[in-house]
Amino acid sequence: MSKNDILLDIKNLKIEGFSDEKWHPIVKGVDLTLRRGQIMGLIGESGAGKSTLGLAAMGYTQPGCRITGGEIMFDGVDLAKLSEGKKREYWGNRITYVAQSAAASFNPAHRLIDQTTASTIRFGIKPEMTTQVEVLTAMRKVVEEFNTAAIYITHDLAVVAQMADFIKVLRHGNEVEEAPTRDMLSAPKEDYTKSLWSVRALEKEPTQEQTPILEIKNIDAAYSKVKVLNDVNISVPRGSTVAVVGESGSGKSTTARVITGLLPPMTGSIEFDGATLPNKLEDRTKEQKRRIQMIYQMADTAMNPRQTVREIIGRPLEFYLGLSGAAREKRVVELLKMIELDERFIDRLPSELSGGQKQRICIARALAAEPDFIICDEVTSALDQIVQEGILKLLMRLQKELNLTYLFITHDISTVKAISDQVVVMNLGQVVEQGKKDDVFSPPHPEYTELLLSSVPEMDPDWLTNLNKVRQAS
Ligand code: ADP
Ligand code: MG
Repeated sequence: MSKNDILLDIKNLKIEGFSDEKWHPIVKGVDLTLRRGQIMGLIGESGAGKSTLGLAAMGYTQPGCRITGGEIMFDGVDLAKLSEGKKREYWGNRITYVAQSAAASFNPAHRLIDQTTASTIRFGIKPEMTTQVEVLTAMRKVVEEFNTAAIYITHDLAVVAQMADFIKVLRHGNEVEEAPTRDMLSAPKEDYTKSLWSVRALEKEPTQEQTPILEIKNIDAAYSKVKVLNDVNISVPRGSTVAVVGESGSGKSTTARVITGLLPPMTGSIEFDGATLPNKLEDRTKEQKRRIQMIYQMADTAMNPRQTVREIIGRPLEFYLGLSGAAREKRVVELLKMIELDERFIDRLPSELSGGQKQRICIARALAAEPDFIICDEVTSALDQIVQEGILKLLMRLQKELNLTYLFITHDISTVKAISDQVVVMNLGQVVEQGKKDDVFSPPHPEYTELLLSSVPEMDPDWLTNLNKVRQAS
């Protein structure tokens, strides 16, 4: 078993899944060759067949799925033809599937590892940002040291850039293309792959310096006497995007709740467009409420499942602008156009929408109020990276067309780089720094910012290697 020996050789694999009382193709004749010492990155939108193919590499199919053609040669044995009992001898012994808990993170990644050694290697996959680097490093080391191989399944393109020697792109159960990682990143052949990379290259046009539309000053806030915000000051120039970054629990969403009036602060003030806003929501006028809207991470829970798109978007039109009947209907259709959805969506229920479409409807509902200021709280965190890009592009286009100001809360640094003018870094309920994006991202950084920046992979395939060099040197 020398390096470069073929370990896994999948040929013309076909898998079907049962739904709506029929069998449907999920994997439509895919080849996959993996050699010892290699890590393959398997990427594609949800539904592309990544996990189905990954599991099939163990000879496993999920309940409701069946292999209908092809072979899965693992170290010379066709797993597709083995009995369940024989396959089990391989599982956890020579082949392991590591699934990141979907509940612990909205960015599930699955890793498939061949364990050729007798020892059982287990990874503690933790969702915190700071451990991701260690997990990635550990995984690369295992593949190298034990001359084994791995398939790394994810929709996080930056992670795949660190991990994989080569990348296979799947779409609708077919292979789009496969290439060594560097070639794939620098010169993708297929339009589909190009579109995947282009999203990361989103680049916001800088907005002209403007006076602030929103300023929160010296905010302290608490949940039943437990103080969670400590002297928070944030200033948001009109027409700009200010990103708020920080680990989970740092107080980002609480800051949003203070601004919208849902959580009145203990002390401090909220200035909006030159006037002080009442701290409590019930003391604000309808007009004050109209001008500040919010979009949430979980588009699902943000919509009433029994209301159609017409009712969801129509309600704020009626409440804030007094529109009804044909005028309301016309405006709903206009708003659907603005979010790039066909007007036929008007009769749909939330359950009949994809994740990205749901989030678009939430954006339309916020726009219905004709706000000046929109708080986006992790609005793309629950979505596939590819769907995320579409939403980010949409938000950027709308900002320009409607002169919107965004407070954009996220823990994803690459999103921040793509869309923001200014960045606020929060930690433990305090603002660590606020500044122009380029200043915040250029050294020297305050200690906490440094930690935050060095814990999130970038698309550069040398990022992890360089980071580990720097860490070893210090
Ligand atoms: P982030 O949005 O940055 O993840 P949050 O603003 O949600 O942070 O949380 C800040 C702090 O407030 C955390 O310690 C969190 O546990 C606490 N917290 C958040 N929401 C509530 C709540 N509804 N009741 C009590 N404590 C809360
Ligand atoms: Mg939050």
